[in-house]
Amino acid sequence: MTAPTRPIPLTDPDLDDLVDRMARREVTAHFLVPADQPPGVIRPPAPALAVRVRACSACGADAATFAASGTPLPFAHWLAEPDDGAPSALPTLTVLGCEWFAPRAVLAVAVALDRYDGAATAAFRSRAVALTDLGVGPDAAPTATALALLEAAERWVDAVAAGVAPAAFAEALAAPDPAPRGAVVPAASRAVSTGLDWTAHRDLLTPGFLGPHPRGPRLTRMNDAYLTARRVAAELALAGDATCPA
Ligand SMILES: [Zn+2]
Repeated sequence: MTAPTRPIPLTDPDLDDLVDRMARREVTAHFLVPADQPPGVIRPPAPALAVRVRACSACGADAATFAASGTPLPFAHWLAEPDDGAPSALPTLTVLGCEWFAPRAVLAVAVALDRYDGAATAAFRSRAVALTDLGVGPDAAPTATALALLEAAERWVDAVAAGVAPAAFAEALAAPDPAPRGAVVPAASRAVSTGLDWTAHRDLLTPGFLGPHPRGPRLTRMNDAYLTARRVAAELALAGDATCPA
């Protein structure tokens, strides 16, 4: 795919809306309810999945780095392996060697695998990996067009949340075109433990909505807006749950 070229303008209400939508989608994914499970819980074991670890072109972290960091996978029986492009008998989730997700961040993947047979052949990927596939490096600022493509590739979660029929889910998983290959997981990620001293590592603890690497001041401001929107949406969702009749 040719890298999108439209630069991100200084102010763009459409882009603000897009970032807000991505934040609210992450919260929606956090509150998905698997069949016969309480909110936020996946019955053991979660569906099997291979975590493909791609070498990060910004910091060099790869599958060996990921393993050496001791970073736990969201589910203990999920397997981590290098992203070598070989076909997998399992559904896959591709991440960078320097990023990790909290279990709730991949709840949508587990629910989709649990609920839809079609998801079993899906290739899920993190936002940072998807941007890499669009020609945007892990520490580069994406264009507005790349962000729009990324957001569109997350809409399968809306279908899961709506509880659509399998055929409609398959359609949502396949769309849109053009798009990053594979369904994008709508979640911020954090940097894996790097062996840095605490002060240096602390700077990497802020979740990044487009992955663990800072992407410049403009994207840092967008990340702040994303995290605020995510917090507000989560508070509203929790307040809604609290007022639900038993
Ligand atoms: Zn990296």
